[in-house]
Amino acid sequence: MCLYDTYRHVGQMETTTRLMKKIRVDTTANISLGILVGTLVLAVLLAAVLVNRTEHALIDRLERIGAERLTLYASTVEAAHSRFDYLPFIVAEDDQVRLLLQAPASDGLRDAVNRKIESWRKESNADVLYLMNADGIVIASSNWDGPDSFVGHDYHFRPYFIDAAAGRVGRFFAVGVTTGRPGLFLSRPVTENGQLLGVAVLKIDMAPLEQDWAAGGENVWVSDRDGVIFLASNPDWRYHSLEPLSPETQNRLQTIRKYHVHPIAPLQQSQLAVSPSGNPLIRLASPSASSAEYLLHQRDIPELGWRLYYLSDLSGLSQSKVYAIVMAALIAAVLGLLTLFLTSRLRLQQQLERRVARRTRELNQSNAHLQQEVEERRRAEQALHQTHEELVQAEKLAALGQLSAGLVHEISQPVSAIQTYLASTQVLAERGEQAQTRANLSEIDGLIRRVSAIVTHLKTFASKSHGDVRQIALNPVIEHALLVVGPGLKKADVTLAWDAPSPSPLVNADEIKLEQVLINLLRNAIDATQLTHLGRPAHIAIRLSHTPDQVCIVISDNGAGIDAADLPRVFEPFFTTKAPGKGMGLGLSVSLGIVEDLGGQLTASPNTDHGTSFQLTLPAADSPHD
Ligand code: ADP
Repeated sequence: MCLYDTYRHVGQMETTTRLMKKIRVDTTANISLGILVGTLVLAVLLAAVLVNRTEHALIDRLERIGAERLTLYASTVEAAHSRFDYLPFIVAEDDQVRLLLQAPASDGLRDAVNRKIESWRKESNADVLYLMNADGIVIASSNWDGPDSFVGHDYHFRPYFIDAAAGRVGRFFAVGVTTGRPGLFLSRPVTENGQLLGVAVLKIDMAPLEQDWAAGGENVWVSDRDGVIFLASNPDWRYHSLEPLSPETQNRLQTIRKYHVHPIAPLQQSQLAVSPSGNPLIRLASPSASSAEYLLHQRDIPELGWRLYYLSDLSGLSQSKVYAIVMAALIAAVLGLLTLFLTSRLRLQQQLERRVARRTRELNQSNAHLQQEVEERRRAEQALHQTHEELVQAEKLAALGQLSAGLVHEISQPVSAIQTYLASTQVLAERGEQAQTRANLSEIDGLIRRVSAIVTHLKTFASKSHGDVRQIALNPVIEHALLVVGPGLKKADVTLAWDAPSPSPLVNADEIKLEQVLINLLRNAIDATQLTHLGRPAHIAIRLSHTPDQVCIVISDNGAGIDAADLPRVFEPFFTTKAPGKGMGLGLSVSLGIVEDLGGQLTASPNTDHGTSFQLTLPAADSPHD
């Protein structure tokens, strides 16, 4: 894939990621919008149900209360007049009253009747009690001496007179023509042998009834047969008709002056609905207050020809509706919030799960990558180890190569001696000098053994080490190293100081590699003493010391020493001060690697007088920490 293709691929991936993020954001917004719409729909449905239930419950309650109140108020209205029914009867049956009706001119009698009637009224606590003659003129009255006295007034046009004159009991509500005060008129005929003498009338004040209703905060009115309201807890309703009155009715009411001077206007009302039990729900406009809504209950009072109305105020209904709507909105809001909370939690959980899955995938990938790296590293280490081993071997063979001249001399010398001995032995044997011959053969054997020892050891030393680390004694390793460098020492005329300690210290090491290190150090020491201008006898000392923890071999020479500037670099690979062909600069670096692999240290330090000392420290094999 070319670079351009790679960029294009990365660009496409970024666009896809951005698109996916946008889709996720859009989905989230859509879910939230869906929940909002759902909540609103739920709120509307709940509100509709709750409002409907509240309305029904309230109207049911009002129907019950209304029916109870109607019964109660109907009985109070009936009681208001029935307890006075007897009074016109008593007046009609009284002898003095009858006498007065028969002889109206008698002033004394009129006076007596007036007083009598007044005393009856007082006792009954009625409004006015009076007596009319057969023409409808009042001839005696309980208010005979007051400013509003009825005496002398003509009320023949009043229905209560007409009814009584016709022999019936009159019951008639009207506004007083004289006083202007409304009241219920109860009348009875006064007859003598079937002949009408006059009419006894009682006017009952109904105002206390209205005051009681108003004080109780009740909405009550009473209408007559024409549908005109004449008793009402609210004065605004009084003298209004439920329906517009026909002209005939208006004329009739005018004639009998039932409502005196009060004009009868239709009530400003409109019907809104009908309750389950058939009662109308109305809105009523009032001149002194704002319009209000009521549930109208009605009941007839047949005895009086009246109709009693009880009005249940519906203002509580709109309040209850508002409560129901608020409640519905609250419930919907709580449910909406709960849904929102649960969905966002679910979404969060899904996001988390997605993130965990992605992270797990990434981890698996990086794990596989790591394993691959570990494998590569292991292979590299193996290759490095292999290379290192080969380098060690190469360096060893190179050292052997450089020592070969001395070694060849070391081998060829006994071989020449053997040849000389063999020639003289042959002569001695021919002469029959047996003792001398045996002595020669013994010399030859010794020389062969020496050559064999060197060759055997060189064979072992040159072979590739298998890295066998085991417990070994140090003295033999040093002896073997000296065997290899011995010819070099001799050739360079170097004196050696070496006292093998007894018993030999023990270390854990690969014998061949440790010998390689020692040969390297000894060879460098010999080289350092061979610089021509030194002018002092060359000398090398090997000292071996040990503590319970470690063993230390110090190889010091009195050679040229190492410049202070070169000292830190002598262990670097390829650092050499030797002439080309004499050294590769790998000896010390390979030796340091071998020593460190054994857990030891190799350091160089200048001697106080001349030359250099190399300290090789290894953990002791019999150490308690081993
Ligand atoms: P080489 O012997 O092939 O040069 P080495 O790593 O064995 O490589 O030694 C590196 C250098 O350290 C030598 O060239 C020499 O300069 C210095 N050196 C090592 N041993 C001694 C010593 N005993 N005295 C002085 N110089 C030394």
